Amino acid sequence: MTQQKLQSKDSVNTDAILVINCGSSSIKFCLIKPATGETLLSGLAECLLSPEAKITIKRDGEKQSYKLPDAFDHQTALSVLVEQLQQLNLVKDISAIGHRVVHGGEHYSQPTLITTEVEQSISQLAKLAPLHNPAHLIGIKACQEAFENLPQVAVFDTAFHQSIPEKAYIYGLPYSLYKDHAIRRYGFHGTSHYFVAKQAAKQLKKPLAQCNLISAHLGNGCSVTVIKNGESVDTSMGMTPGEGVMMGTRCGDIDAGIIFHLVDNLGYSIADVNKLLNKESGLLGVSGLSNDCRTLENAMLEDNHVQATLALTVFCYRIAKSIASYSASLTQLDGLIFTGGIGENSSWIRAEIVKQLGLLNFSLDEEKNQATRFGASGNIATKSSRACLVIATNEEWVIAEQSAQLLTNLAK
Ligand code: AMP
Repeated sequence: MTQQKLQSKDSVNTDAILVINCGSSSIKFCLIKPATGETLLSGLAECLLSPEAKITIKRDGEKQSYKLPDAFDHQTALSVLVEQLQQLNLVKDISAIGHRVVHGGEHYSQPTLITTEVEQSISQLAKLAPLHNPAHLIGIKACQEAFENLPQVAVFDTAFHQSIPEKAYIYGLPYSLYKDHAIRRYGFHGTSHYFVAKQAAKQLKKPLAQCNLISAHLGNGCSVTVIKNGESVDTSMGMTPGEGVMMGTRCGDIDAGIIFHLVDNLGYSIADVNKLLNKESGLLGVSGLSNDCRTLENAMLEDNHVQATLALTVFCYRIAKSIASYSASLTQLDGLIFTGGIGENSSWIRAEIVKQLGLLNFSLDEEKNQATRFGASGNIATKSSRACLVIATNEEWVIAEQSAQLLTNLAK
C-alpha cells in the first residue's frame, strides 16, 4: 500500500478496525467497531523476546492467557492473534489496522494512511521519541505481513496539539534550534485529550467548537491540556513526554541546572541522568515506595507513611498549579476534566487538586466525588462550581473512528 488513495472499492467496509499499540516488548490490541465503540476482542502480548512472554485475549468478558515460547517476537505474537481471529471468524470483519504512533512531529496533524514515505518519516521522528517510534515501526511491519491486504493507518499522539500557537510551543532557546532541529513543544496524550473533550461537549450540551476546557490526563504518564473552542492551545508535555507535571516515575519540570550539577559534581553520566529523570523520579522517587497511586494512598491513609504523603501532596500541588496556569490561555472556562487511571479512579487525588482551585471557582461535591470511580463518569462539582467532569478515556475508539473516517474519505 504505497498510495494515498484506496483502490478497487466503491464503498469501504468499516465494520471493525484492529487497533494496535506496539511497544518495544508488548503489543496492545483491540478489535473495535468505529461506529459504536463496541469492543469485539482485546488483549495484550507482553514480555516479548523474554522467557515470560505471554499473550492474553479478552472476549465477551472472558480472558484467556497463553504462555509463549522464549523467542516470541512481535511477528509471532501477531500470528497467534490472527489465528484466534480466524477461529472466531472475525478476520472478515476487519477493514483496516489503526496504529497508535506517539510522535508525528510537525508534519502530521491528521490520521494518515501508512505508505513507505510515512514509515520513513516515523523512523526519522524516532530522534524525538526514541522509546516509542521504533517500536511502532516494528508493529507496522509485523501487521503488514500478518494482514497484507489491509490498509494501515497511523494516528499520532501529537496530532491534536498541532493547533497550539507559536507562543506556546517555542522554548526560550535560540530560535535556530527550532528552525534547524525541530526543538519545540509537541505535547502527547492528544488522542485521549481529544476524546474526553468530545465527551465533555456532549455532557455540557454544546458543540465541541464552543467548548473551553482544561483536561487532566492522569495515569502512569500525566499531562494537562487547555482546549479553546474545541482545539488544543497549550499542553504540559513538551518535545518529549518528560516535561510538565510530576508523574509516576518521571520528574516533570525541573531546573535544567540540576542536570549539570548531577553530571559535573555527583558523578552521573548522561545515561544515568536519563534513567533517573524518566524511571526513578516522580511519585516513585519522592515516596521511595512505589509509582502506583493505590499503594501510596494506602500507605498514607493506613500507615501515615511520611514520604508517600509528601509524594502525593507534591503531585497534586503541581497538577493544580498547572491547571491554574492555563487561565492565561482562556477568557472563558466551561470546566475541568479528569481522566486516565488516576483521574478516573482516585477521589482523594481529585479532591486534593480541586481544593487548590477555589480561585477559579471549582469545588467538589464530596459524595459525587466518592461515587464516581471504576468506570463511572459524570460531573462531580457542587452546584455553584464550574463543571468537574470525570470521563473514562478511550483512545482505541478514537483511533478506530479516525481510521474508518480516513478510509471512507480516501475511497470517495
Ligand atoms: P493508566 O496509565 O491510565 O493506566 O493509569 C495507571 C495508574 O492509575 C496506576 O499507576 C495507578 O496509580 C492509577 N490507578 C488505577 N486505579 C486506581 C485507583 N483505584 N486509585 C488510585 N489510583 C489508581
